[in-house]
Amino acid sequence: MIKANVYSSSKHRFLYCRSFLCRRSFVRSLDEANVSSLITSIKSCISISLCRLIHCKVVKTVSYRHGFIGDQLVACYLRLGHDVCAEKLFDEMPERDLVSWNSLISGYSEKGYLGKCFKALSRMMRTEMGFKPNEVTFLSMISVCVNGGSKEDGRCIHGLVMKFGFLEEVKVVNALINLYGKSKDLASSCILFEDSSVKNLVSWNTMILIHLQNGLAEEGLVYFNMSRRVGYKPDQATVLAVLRVCEDIGVVKLAQGVHGLIMFCGFNGNKCITTALLDLYSKLGRLEDSSTVFLEIASPDSMAWTAMLAAYATHGYGRDAIKHFELMVQCGISPDHVTFTHLLNACSHSGLVEEGKHYFETMSKRYRVEPRLDHYSCMVDLMGRSGLLQDAYGLIKDMPMEPSSGVWGALLGACRVYGDTELGIKAAERLFELEPSDGRNYIMLSNIYSASGQWKDASRIRNLMKQKGLVRASGCSYIEHGNKIHKFVVGDWSHPESERIQKKLKEIRKKMKNEMGFKSRTEFVLHDVDEDVKEEMISQHSEKIAMAFGLLMISPMEPIIIRKNLRICGDCHETAKAISLIEKRRIIIRDSKRFHHFSEGSCSCRDYW
Ligand SMILES: [Zn+2]
Ligand SMILES: [Zn+2]
Repeated sequence: MIKANVYSSSKHRFLYCRSFLCRRSFVRSLDEANVSSLITSIKSCISISLCRLIHCKVVKTVSYRHGFIGDQLVACYLRLGHDVCAEKLFDEMPERDLVSWNSLISGYSEKGYLGKCFKALSRMMRTEMGFKPNEVTFLSMISVCVNGGSKEDGRCIHGLVMKFGFLEEVKVVNALINLYGKSKDLASSCILFEDSSVKNLVSWNTMILIHLQNGLAEEGLVYFNMSRRVGYKPDQATVLAVLRVCEDIGVVKLAQGVHGLIMFCGFNGNKCITTALLDLYSKLGRLEDSSTVFLEIASPDSMAWTAMLAAYATHGYGRDAIKHFELMVQCGISPDHVTFTHLLNACSHSGLVEEGKHYFETMSKRYRVEPRLDHYSCMVDLMGRSGLLQDAYGLIKDMPMEPSSGVWGALLGACRVYGDTELGIKAAERLFELEPSDGRNYIMLSNIYSASGQWKDASRIRNLMKQKGLVRASGCSYIEHGNKIHKFVVGDWSHPESERIQKKLKEIRKKMKNEMGFKSRTEFVLHDVDEDVKEEMISQHSEKIAMAFGLLMISPMEPIIIRKNLRICGDCHETAKAISLIEKRRIIIRDSKRFHHFSEGSCSCRDYW
């Protein structure tokens, strides 16, 4: 027994000595191989104490210049947020060269320190050696300007780029094009692009993206077509950008065209692209196409599985979402917090209370995913939808973290549906604190008041909103026909087919009254006016005009797909249900929250949204 103990302690000492000796030998003979492994450890270093330890070793053994170890240490200190140590080391380092300055500037740039970047740049150019910035310097400077600079800062760097003759460097030019695009100066981007003699595919991709980001998706598409014409073969970045363009434009035919291109260019094996395509179809209301794309993915990864789950969730196909989730787990894919957000969302969008509660409980126990704010929002929404308002409020009070605006918003939404003014006020008060400038919360509370006939309080909230200078976005609906998107606003007579649309609207209303005894749900008119005026106001909502247009123009074989910027009102929802029954049409409306699939007189949301 004693022997064993002695042995174990001596063994322990031996191991310690050996590692010590190893370190001694390492100190004595620091060759190239050691330096490169030291640099690797600096690059992957994640703790400040380890960084200091390596620093000590470097001080004792090598010169800072050896393999640029000093520069790497500066970068490491900056990365770990110890700016003072980085700056001290930088100032102590003898023989600083351009690489040293670049590693300091790029470290600052990654941290978003705009002022420090400019200071370091001017110090660098004013040193005795008079270092001239190079491509690396400019890329760091442009990147910090993109993330936090003003247009003037960018222009200043552009000037230096010209002065030092770097307009022939394609990476620098591309970064400048992006810089101007991000600061909403597309004209400057275009001039740079047109004048550049060194364009490459990245330049074209950048032009597509910055137009998209500035709300000019069609222009982005023009650039894409031009790049094809001059002979560029799209890469992954191009296709992903064009898929985003398609989402923005919203024309299904266009998405189908890009789908064809994906097959033609052999990108159908690229999971990143097919997942984005699946997501696009879902956003355009084509859930069947999403699921076809998903089934064609050879061995879907967790991104693809989750994207398909999200599609089922926003379309309100809760049962399919659950089936999909169980299949995903069976296939050995571990769900993460994003997966659970979509799963709980799916349960909530379809009113599957028990299932939702089950997954909320098992997510941490079985899958080791701790519930986050998003998951609590889903649960509040789910309980609220079933009228369990007090339970939802109880869950909020028991939350281990501070409830977010999403959580209170879900409760306020439920209070609106169930007309619980008292709890609604509580939720709204918290929301006004958390998001004082979000007009939607004021509208929702004012709606709760007006639905219960408290007109004075409703108008008080609306006045409060006005005082704060918040305006209500006006509702508009979009529908695709003839490769074009048609936009309608409330009471819209601007469309060339307005006469026919209004005639159709009247005809449907009459049919609905005669065949189904349909009565307008005028409680959704939020003004204190006479009933017949209310009925006239509500009959001109943009989605109703879009539905009438769809009935006239879209083939009975195809669903009528409408996009709406705001939440659909109760009367339009009832109307869509009625039309789906009497006209035997499928209607899909995507509002600001989700998709509603109307057919045979009912909606996939089961009347809760
Ligand atoms: Zn409406
Ligand atoms: Zn619905």
